[in-house]
Amino acid sequence: MIFDALCNELKTRISDDEFTRYIAPLKFLEKYSKSDYVALEAPNPYLALWVQSKYGSKIADFFEKESGIRPNVRVNVKNAGAKKHGDLLTKGEGATVKSTALNLSYTFDSFVVGNSNKFAYTVAKAVSENLGAAYNPVVIFGGVGIGKTHLLQAIGNITASQRKSVTYRKCEHMLNDFTEHMRLKTMDRFRDQYRNCDALLVDDAQFLSGKEGLQEEFFNTFEELHSRGKQIVLTADQPPKMIAGLTERLKSRFMWGQLAEIQPPELETKIAIIKTKCEILKITLDKEIVNYIASRLDDNVREIEGVLSNINLYCAMLGRPASIEVVKDILKNYLRDKLENITIDSIAQAVAKEMNCKISEIKSKSRVQQIVAARKMIIYLARKLTQNSMPLIAEYFGMKDHSAVSHAYRVITQIIENDADFKLKIDALAGKIAAPKEP
Ligand code: ADP
Ligand code: MG
Repeated sequence: MIFDALCNELKTRISDDEFTRYIAPLKFLEKYSKSDYVALEAPNPYLALWVQSKYGSKIADFFEKESGIRPNVRVNVKNAGAKKHGDLLTKGEGATVKSTALNLSYTFDSFVVGNSNKFAYTVAKAVSENLGAAYNPVVIFGGVGIGKTHLLQAIGNITASQRKSVTYRKCEHMLNDFTEHMRLKTMDRFRDQYRNCDALLVDDAQFLSGKEGLQEEFFNTFEELHSRGKQIVLTADQPPKMIAGLTERLKSRFMWGQLAEIQPPELETKIAIIKTKCEILKITLDKEIVNYIASRLDDNVREIEGVLSNINLYCAMLGRPASIEVVKDILKNYLRDKLENITIDSIAQAVAKEMNCKISEIKSKSRVQQIVAARKMIIYLARKLTQNSMPLIAEYFGMKDHSAVSHAYRVITQIIENDADFKLKIDALAGKIAAPKEP
C-alpha cells in the first residue's frame, strides 16, 4: 500500500537511524486522508512536530509524484483530541458530584498584570480577600484566551487554601450535572453541591443561553447564595446584557454586582507574558525573538503559550536554545494551521460585523458604497486567507463568471498598496478572522 511505498522511498533518502527513530513509529491514517490531504499520527508531540517540519515536504513530494496532486501533510498526535478529565459526575446509581477541579497554577502571582487586565485583576483580588463582601456577584468578561478562567480559578485557589468550600464549574458541566440529576431525580445533590459553598464560580456563563430549565435553577441558586452572603463569580465572553437567550431577571442579577472587562493584551503586556512563561518553562529567548513572537501573534494568550511550548519541545529535541529561524518556522506552521480552518463565510461574517451591514446585503446587487466596499474586502481576504479560487468566490456571491471577482481583487490590492491606514485596518481584520476559537 501507499504508506509502505512511502517508507521504502524515505529509506533511500534518509539514514536507517533516522528512519527507525522518526518514521517507523508513524501511523498512516488512511480514513482521514484524501488526495490533497495526508494524515499521519505520531505517538507524542515531540515526534509530531519534528516529522511535520523535517519530513513534511519530503512526504508531500512523494505523494505528488505518485498522484500528481501535492497534498497538505499533517502529523497529528495520538489521542490529542481525547476527552480531558472534567466531568466529575459519575453516571449510574449513586451519582456523586464533586466540585473543585482547580488548576493550582492559576494564581494571582502567575498572572501578568498590564493595562488590559488591571481592573479585572484588582476586582478578582479584592473578592478573594473579602469573600462575599467586596463585590457580589462579579462577572469577568472578555474575548477568548485572555485570562478569564485564570482569574476565576485564582479566586478559587485562594478561597480553597483558606479552607472554605469552593464550587468551580464550567457552565457546560453545570448543564450536564443538571440534566443528569434531573434524569436520576437526585436534584437534592445538585443543590447540595451548588448551594452549600462559600464561593460559587461558574466559568463561561454564556452557556446558560437558551437553557431555560437550568436558568430557573440557577436563578434560585443565585438568590439563595446571595442572600446568605456567599460569593458568586461568573465569567462570560461578553457583558451579561449582551448575552442572548438569558432571562431578564438573571441579567438584572448579574448586573447587580461588579462587571470587570478584560481587554486583549497590548504589545507590552504580551511581551511581559512571554517573558514570564519562558521563565516558567525554563527557556531562554533573545529579546529579538520575544518581540517577534509578540508582534506576529495576535492577542490570545493561550495561543502564545502553545507556541512557546512548541519552541520548548524543539529545544528539548535539538538540545540547544531556539534560534530566530527555528521560531519563524514554528510560527509559520502555526499560522498555516490556523488558516486551514477559515471559510469564505467566516470572512464574510467578520467583514459584515466590521462594516456594520448584513451578509444578505453584501450578497445582493446593492451599489451602496459601504456594501460595495465590504464585498471587495471579502474578496480580498478570501484570496489571501483561503484556498478558494476565483470561481469559487464568484459562486459564493452568486456571480456567473469570475471576472468581476478578479477585477475587485485587483482594485482593492491597489488601494491597499496606496493607503497605509486601510492596509492596517484590513490586516487587523485578517488577524481577527484567523484567531482560533476556544477548543
Ligand atoms: P479565557 O478563560 O479568557 O479564555 P484563560 O484564562 O484560559 O483564558 O487563559 C488562557 C491561558 O493564558 C491560560 O493558560 C492562562 O494562564 C494564560 N494567561 C492569560 N492571561 C494571562 C496573564 N495576564 N498572565 C499570565 N497568563 C495568562
Ligand atoms: Mg475560559
